[in-house]
Amino acid sequence: SRRRSSVIVIGAGVSGISAGKVLADNGVEDLVILEASDRIGGRIRHERFGGVSAELGAGWIAGVGGKQANPVWELASQSGLRTCFSDYSNARYNIYDRSGKIFPSGVAADSYKKAVDSAIQNLKNLEDNDDSIDDTSEPHSAPKTPIELAIDFILHDFEMAEVEPISTYVDFGEREFLVADERGYVHLLHKMAEEFLFTSEGKILDSRLQLNKVVREIQHSRNGVVVKTEDGCIYEANYVILSASIGVLQSDLISFKPPLPRWKTEAIEKCDVMVYTKIFLKFPYKFWPCGPEKEFFIYAHDRRGYYTFWQHMENAYPGSNILVVTLTNGESKRVEAQSDEETLEEAMEVLKDMFGPSVPNATDILVPRWWNNRFQRGSYSNYPIISNNQVVNSIKAPVGRIFFTGEHTSEKFNGYVHGGYLAGIDTGKTLVEKMNKEKERDTENQNQN
Ligand code: FAD
Repeated sequence: SRRRSSVIVIGAGVSGISAGKVLADNGVEDLVILEASDRIGGRIRHERFGGVSAELGAGWIAGVGGKQANPVWELASQSGLRTCFSDYSNARYNIYDRSGKIFPSGVAADSYKKAVDSAIQNLKNLEDNDDSIDDTSEPHSAPKTPIELAIDFILHDFEMAEVEPISTYVDFGEREFLVADERGYVHLLHKMAEEFLFTSEGKILDSRLQLNKVVREIQHSRNGVVVKTEDGCIYEANYVILSASIGVLQSDLISFKPPLPRWKTEAIEKCDVMVYTKIFLKFPYKFWPCGPEKEFFIYAHDRRGYYTFWQHMENAYPGSNILVVTLTNGESKRVEAQSDEETLEEAMEVLKDMFGPSVPNATDILVPRWWNNRFQRGSYSNYPIISNNQVVNSIKAPVGRIFFTGEHTSEKFNGYVHGGYLAGIDTGKTLVEKMNKEKERDTENQNQN
């Protein structure tokens, strides 16, 4: 089948939906959204697990309480999303060694400070350049002991805010709220979609949203675009907005005809893909401490990132008896490749180290696989710390009639939900301007003729 519209939006994650809404708000009603999976949300995704809603992707609204309002926090307030305050900076005071002892807070604080200082020093060395050997700075020793490795992990894989200013916290504030709503984080997106797509009884019934449409080819020329999907459908339009993740852009899922120019593909290759995996474990009862400042705890092992970062879900869902352990990058990929039973066994061994041999076995496990999902290929973008804006600008820049959006195109907020949201608005507006200019030019031409 063939279908014609003025704009095709590829992807119905937060950036695709916010871009679509900007278009519709500006009179471009004639659009089609093609989504590869069977639902909207993309990396905002929840599943029923152990009787509650588990957020497999984004879980926090990060950056709240500052001078400027975080737009996602505002959307959450408007739509009555249930959230709870969550502070992982205390995690460093709940570090367990393999015999189940918690490191004294003084030791943890000292190690933490040392790690921050050395990260700042490394950053300075990089900035001051690079190749010249700087013999005034102390040689930085790599983390070696389990506690050093654990702290290195929480610092670099979670909390870089103490090392370099992160726009999210500088602009919007340092507080973070965990989404704890049975309708899921995705409820925000449904609310947004409702404003421009036809919905009935909470379901989007608008034929402009096409689910299970995997885009495999984008042909583009001066005159327009032709998009082909895996099921053999063809969509024609004047413009495309492409919101697929950086991991998907690095993969061969979508081919471009003609191919994307080198400045584009080179920039796409320069951006790192972070893999971040939250493993959910359900227990028959609680055996972990739950008081104030105990929401997060750390396991110090001699392998970096080995089941390091733990969280209990009692604040979000009291009585749920669920633990979440977060793995990243290499450990994420390793666990994705093995069976969930193997992962459960490993996690249980770690818990027995921390809390003793009598802890009850988990009755259920949920292991998201963001790396092996061909519509994601990772969790979020991670620009090299010392990268000029040139890289993100090139990733964002349109190629002819193809416009790019997504969290990875947000210069200030990449990696976050609000980054995706604001990127969608930005790309939507840029395209509307371009279309308006084109219209003006056409009417001028007509008037001259
Ligand atoms: P996506 O949500 O990926 O949307 C792109 C859409 O395009 C997807 O629906 C995909 O299916 C679709 N697609 C891909 N290829 C094709 C194709 N060929 N054809 C058609 N459709 C296609 N952010 C926070 O703010 N707080 C957090 O706590 C947080 N935690 C996170 C934890 C995890 C595990 C992950 C994975 C992410 C987390 N993030 C968090 C990041 C946040 O989820 C993302 O930045 C944001 O959701 C990205 O939105 P997007 O629209 O750019 O991309």
